[in-house]
Amino acid sequence: MTESSLVLFSGGQDSATCLAWALARFDRVETIGFDYGQKHIVEMICRQTILGKIGKLHEGWEDRLGEDHLIDLSILGQISETALTQDMAITIAENGLPNTFVPGRNLLFLTLASAVAYRRGIRHLIGGMCETDFSGYPDCRDDTIKSLQVTLNLGMDKRFVIDTPLMWLDKAATWQLAAETGGTDLVDLIIEDSHTCYTGDRSHRHAWGYGCGVCPACALRANGYEKYLTATSNIAGRRE
Ligand code: ZN
Repeated sequence: MTESSLVLFSGGQDSATCLAWALARFDRVETIGFDYGQKHIVEMICRQTILGKIGKLHEGWEDRLGEDHLIDLSILGQISETALTQDMAITIAENGLPNTFVPGRNLLFLTLASAVAYRRGIRHLIGGMCETDFSGYPDCRDDTIKSLQVTLNLGMDKRFVIDTPLMWLDKAATWQLAAETGGTDLVDLIIEDSHTCYTGDRSHRHAWGYGCGVCPACALRANGYEKYLTATSNIAGRRE
């Protein structure tokens, strides 16, 4: 049976890893992205670059990679005041959540993705939500995603499966998963062309990629990469 999937793909490290994970498993992989008035258009450019290159990394991936659906979600920028959609500094709000949290974002993304998947006859929705290293976003939690899966299936009378391959991985393990899935070519593509930095900085190049190096997203990515490299060299050392 041909199994198809729809990957929530933003152009960041996590969703790029999920895209490769899907290409290694499903006969057909479509992608969906949301333009919600992010301050930095750089994310949109990065996702196009990765979509153009990732199929060439592995035999068969190009044939599996299908349509990309780009959804205008500018309404999300209109109804939420966050550091990702408006010009304000990143801080921790009174409720303990960073103001990069866009309330309802993942709920909306997955709901819209399931509507597209319904129309396209796709069963698997794939997202890079992660409970391990997460910034405290409640809509990244496993319980939230599982509950939403039930709701979507009840509301559309379907059997969608929401796959979250990164849910229990830390950032070092996410780098490792990329290496296992697509080898060093994929790791290099993620370093060079994926974007995670909250401030949209593409002028500073580090070992782990581009970014300001100080925002919470850069810190997570950098620490994870260092831990991944250490673990990888330990393994290589033991093999020698
Ligand atoms: Zn940054």
